[in-house]
Amino acid sequence: MTITLITQEEYDTLLSIQKEFPALTFQNKGYEYLKMSELTEIELEKFKEAEAILEKCILGFNKFNHFRGENKNGNIEVRFQYNWTADDDYSKNPLPFTGVGYLEVEELFRGFRENWKFNCEECGKEVSEKELKEKTIQCFKCM
Ligand SMILES: [Zn+2]
Repeated sequence: MTITLITQEEYDTLLSIQKEFPALTFQNKGYEYLKMSELTEIELEKFKEAEAILEKCILGFNKFNHFRGENKNGNIEVRFQYNWTADDDYSKNPLPFTGVGYLEVEELFRGFRENWKFNCEECGKEVSEKELKEKTIQCFKCM
């Protein structure tokens, strides 16, 4: 998946839409979808506003499904459909395949979580999330 990072303003817009319009948040289990026909006019308008931001930043974006509430990291997620082969060389893989994608709104702003850097509170070293002791900002060496 390839993303272009969103601006602070777009980030704030996504999070405020999620907060102010709870009907756009849905904790789907598997292949369940938001019932679009039950949205009010303003909810639909806000849905489209959020979708326009996602469309700009996710390569091969197809459609927005809904927000999901806080995940285990305490972050709001978006669920969407995109072309899984958008990153491929078209001469080798000409058939697009549309499938589901999930990202934290935080990742749209800061980049993929796996690339995030944290400074160990003990030694100051820059480490990835995998190198952090659970729920603290200390690297394994300083545990
Ligand atoms: Zn350390």
